[in-house]
This record gives sequence, structure tokens and C-alpha cells, in this order.
Amino acid sequence: MKLLEQAIREKGTVLPNDVLKVNSFLNHQIDTELMIAIGKEFAHLFAQEGITKVLTIESSGIAPSFMAANELKSPLIFARKKKSLTLQDNVYTSSVYSYTKKETNEITVAKEFLNCNDTVLIIDDFLANGEAALGLASIVEQAGATVVGIGIVIEKSFQPGRNKLLQAGYRVESLARIESLSNGTVTFVTKNHL
Ligand code: 5GP
Repeated sequence: MKLLEQAIREKGTVLPNDVLKVNSFLNHQIDTELMIAIGKEFAHLFAQEGITKVLTIESSGIAPSFMAANELKSPLIFARKKKSLTLQDNVYTSSVYSYTKKETNEITVAKEFLNCNDTVLIIDDFLANGEAALGLASIVEQAGATVVGIGIVIEKSFQPGRNKLLQAGYRVESLARIESLSNGTVTFVTKNHL
């Protein structure tokens, strides 16, 4: 997605350990026009799938998924990273190791919001090792619902996440695919390398 690649090129910063900082439009301050465009793109890619729920993880997945869910006319559910007082029992849970924070979160979704008739689109801001996406997919499967695909805003294609998700049988659609962050420079995957 050209608009997204342009934002990454102009506003992204490469941090140590292959982490891309995009705090000025996605992870802290949010570029709402860009989020609307991202949401429309996800909705377009998955328009034929009969999606009944969009599922993401707090907090950075919420902005791009909100717009996608709105376009797809489906509710948006976000998995919580910390157990809340009002969300103790009757939850689906999964363990997710965070690459950037170096910690494991027990993510939860209340059982009342997912059931076996749901057709679910999973969305997240980044794909690195695939932990977050696989944790969300596990929750959908615990509910007996169907994962129709995984939409990613920024995929770090040099890390193993994409292949793990493909091997698990999921459709993966990433709006920006990064081939390398070497030497502090963002290089995108070109179509020929797909
Ligand atoms: P995974 O679970 O695929 O290993 O990593 C995805 C999660 O880690 C995302 O939800 C995102 O929060 C975080 N993440 C992974 N890599 C990066 C990165 O380079 N930059 C930022 N901002 N977040 C990342």
C-alpha cells in the first residue's frame, strides 16, 4: 500500500534489534486519514469472506481494525493483555510472548463475544514472530469459530511470522512488507520477491 510505505519511509525510525518505531502515525499518535485508508484496504481484501467479527489485540491493533470493522459492518473485539476485574471467568485465554517488550502476556477474550458461528478476521499492527497472531487464532479456534484471514499493517518479512502463519494454513494479507531494516534503512519487499 503506497500511502503506508510512504509514511514508513518518511516517519519511521529503525531502532536496535530490528524494531521499527512508527509512533508518529500508528503506535502513539495516530494518523486517522491513514487508518481510514488502511481499514478500507483490509475491508476490500476480505470483502467476500462473510466476516462477522474482527479481532485484534490492545492497544495498537485497535485503530486500524476499528476502521476495517466499520467498513465490513462487523463488531470489533480487542483481546486484553491484562486480566481486568470485570473479566475474570468465562474467558478464552492464550499466552503471547512480546518480541518488543520481552514479556509474556496472558491475553483474554470474553466467551460471550465469540461463538462457533463466527467468521473472524484477525488484524494486528505488526507481524514479527507470529506470536500475537497465533495467540489470537488460538482464541478463535477455542470458540469453535473460523479464522478467514490475518490482516497485518506492517510485516517484517525477514522474521519468521509470515511463514508460521502460512504453514498453519492461514491467509495472510500485509499492507506493507519489509524485507530488511539493515543499516537503519527500510527496504520493502518488491513484487518480484513475493
Ligand atoms: P509477533 O507477535 O509477530 O512476534 O510481534 C507482533 C507484535 O509485536 C505486534 O503486536 C507489535 O506490537 C510488536 N512488534 C513486533 N515488532 C515490532 C516492531 O518492529 N515495531 C513495533 N512498533 N512493534 C513491533
